[in-house]
Amino acid sequence: MVRAARTALLLLLAAVLAAGAAFAEEPEPITIDNVRNYIVGIDEPVTLSDGTSRPMINFDNAATTPALRPVMDEVDAKLRMYGSIGRGFSLKSDYSTELYQETRDKVLSFVGVNPKDETYIMFYVNNTTDGLNKLATALINSSEDIVLTTRMEHHANDLPWRERCKVVGSKVIYAEVDGQGRVIYEDLERQLKENPVRYVSVTAASNVTGYMPDVHRIAKLAHQYGAKIIVDGAQIVAHRAFSMLGETPEENIDFFVFSAHKMYSPYGGGAVVGLNEVLQEHQPTFYGGGTVHLVQDYAVSYKTGSEAYEAGSPNYPGVVGLGKAIDILRQIGFDSIAEHEQKLNRRLIDGLLAIENVTVYGDTVNLDDRVGVVTFNTSDANSYELATRIADRGGIATRRGAFCAHPYVWRLMGYSDAEMEEYEACDDYNTPGMIRVSFGIYNTEEEVDTLLEILKEQIEEIKEHNKELDEKELWDDIMYPGY
Ligand code: PLP
Repeated sequence: MVRAARTALLLLLAAVLAAGAAFAEEPEPITIDNVRNYIVGIDEPVTLSDGTSRPMINFDNAATTPALRPVMDEVDAKLRMYGSIGRGFSLKSDYSTELYQETRDKVLSFVGVNPKDETYIMFYVNNTTDGLNKLATALINSSEDIVLTTRMEHHANDLPWRERCKVVGSKVIYAEVDGQGRVIYEDLERQLKENPVRYVSVTAASNVTGYMPDVHRIAKLAHQYGAKIIVDGAQIVAHRAFSMLGETPEENIDFFVFSAHKMYSPYGGGAVVGLNEVLQEHQPTFYGGGTVHLVQDYAVSYKTGSEAYEAGSPNYPGVVGLGKAIDILRQIGFDSIAEHEQKLNRRLIDGLLAIENVTVYGDTVNLDDRVGVVTFNTSDANSYELATRIADRGGIATRRGAFCAHPYVWRLMGYSDAEMEEYEACDDYNTPGMIRVSFGIYNTEEEVDTLLEILKEQIEEIKEHNKELDEKELWDDIMYPGY
């Protein structure tokens, strides 16, 4: 009776909240053409080195994305009903718990899985790095747990495997990439043939070249050789529709990991979707409240399934934001997003290639398997100095360096492993690196043109400046740059 009354009251409160949110709802559907109006901070001025101010052009979306206003509004609205998740005895706690559980279904369907299909379950994580680390500690337990990954991975999809394999006495092996940064499928298959691989872990999109390997093809290969496949989805989720399911069951992805902050919900959080049967059998080395049925003085009975992977208090704003971000990305539509990104990629790559002495990495002719990430260098300027100038003088955010994917970047730049050793003790300025432009749904072709103009101007200024220096001054300038 008491329970029924509580539930009725809860439903009433939820309805009141929903009615409130409805008033705050965006009046028009969000599309690729109007999404700029919904980006938080897009008009926020930044101060340039000459003292003037202007809104920043943000081309660093592969690192993290700004918030969408409706995501922020949703988090604000839902915080009014915030209570402890899965632990409390209150209407707010019940409301928060229900929302937390409902969002699981949304995440599953976002990656092409029917939430009613018990083949897959999901668990929340802090971000992709956290998810991959948890998978590594859960799945890698013996010297037979060999992992095959590739040379194009972000460190988040390399180091957890390296370190975990070290602990259990197994190993990580790598499939090579070609000169354009594409994974060599034949090499991947060779590795599978020659080694009893248990897990293949590969990114769905590179954060360096934007290259998207055919992960369903890799899944088929992995399964053919008795391995399971894990896909790092950090760079795909805001750019392309992704389905765990391939055209045939052999092409299905077994585990998929992604972060919410790369999809316009910077409140932390992310998810791992994975095979129920496998996850039930394993447990990450991460313990605490929420993961147990019963703890006695000297015995513990652990839960299995999603909760076994979610020790500690959940991140409610992260979950609310993730759910809303999924809604909005779906509303805009991944076809429109892909088409828009292709236009930006083409314009930028063509513009860069038209500048003398500029190298663009990856395939610059066929862009079909690239999301909106473009990396480049010029032999006329140090990339650190150039990126700093376009930020400080041009108000444009890019990223410079090796983007937490060192082996991939060194390969694309033509440095051997041995050559890189001498840079170990160097500061950032002197370490080889690229400049990266990564697009979000709200970037425009005009912004690309502005970047190209500022780039040309700054490269010329650097060249002029360097011309006036003798060899010693040039060296000093490199070591102690004044920009
Ligand atoms: N994987 C790829 C391909 C990435 O680009 C990144 C971050 O840039 C990560 C994993 C790690 O994501 P997070 O920092 O959200 O854990």
